[in-house]
Amino acid sequence: MPELPEVETVRRGLAPVLEGARLTEALVRRPDLRWPFPDRMAARLTGARVLRLRRRSKYILADLDTGETLIIHLGMSGRMLISGDGAAQMPGAFAHDHGQMDKHDHVILTTDAGVRITFNDARRFGAMDLAPTERVEDHWLLSGLGPEPLGNHFDAPYLAGRFAGKRSPVKSALLDQRIVAGLGNIYVCEALWRSGISPLRHAGRISEARIARLVPAIRDVLSEAIEAGGSSLRDYRQADGDLGYFQHRFAVYGREGEPCQTPDCQGEIRRKVQSGRSSFYCAACQR
Ligand SMILES: [Zn+2]
Repeated sequence: MPELPEVETVRRGLAPVLEGARLTEALVRRPDLRWPFPDRMAARLTGARVLRLRRRSKYILADLDTGETLIIHLGMSGRMLISGDGAAQMPGAFAHDHGQMDKHDHVILTTDAGVRITFNDARRFGAMDLAPTERVEDHWLLSGLGPEPLGNHFDAPYLAGRFAGKRSPVKSALLDQRIVAGLGNIYVCEALWRSGISPLRHAGRISEARIARLVPAIRDVLSEAIEAGGSSLRDYRQADGDLGYFQHRFAVYGREGEPCQTPDCQGEIRRKVQSGRSSFYCAACQR
């Protein structure tokens, strides 16, 4: 499942071909993905110019010159592919012949530069919707979200305030999108390991000093993964035009039974299921 760094990588990959481009065609090949597409989506997209591509949590937002914003969510398996004759001429974009249409190619946008952007989603947990740009933050998918983990409103005093009195495990608190937006299982495991905090500890029982270490750990794991995603964009110019899925090494995630990588720690990485998701952690150095 794409997490925030993967979504940001997709956004950065799409920006060179979409920002400033006019959509000359929008092909919508089914009425819905996870939810129904908005009424007349193809007609509302056709002819629109994309002013800006931004990200909120795991949503990509394309602001259009029609006053609407296209909200895109990749869901579990959504992918964005860039192809078409125009793609080869775009600096910083990815040339690639997508070839025949796949049955999971649900939405295909064509730009005035001859670039084709295909939203492919085999499991159909993805979503697209249109909302007025002025009020897009009030859209039901976005309105309940907490601050961005890489943004200025996410800091130690804020997080301490949200953790105060909480009896739920810190792991669950960090996955609560109302507390901080866009954090997923993998990066929460990594950030907790880096800051020496057990995923089982009650959020309300973590000292302010440790929260002050946790916040930069969260920012660092995300920033490093975004950097790795950026490298993947530069590296592959590109095998198949598929954005956003890149190899990244994790210190604890998926490493059950391996020795802990904390210097001088003799511990071993354990796995424990919390709220249906695997937590990977070291019981020796995470308290
Ligand atoms: Zn350890």
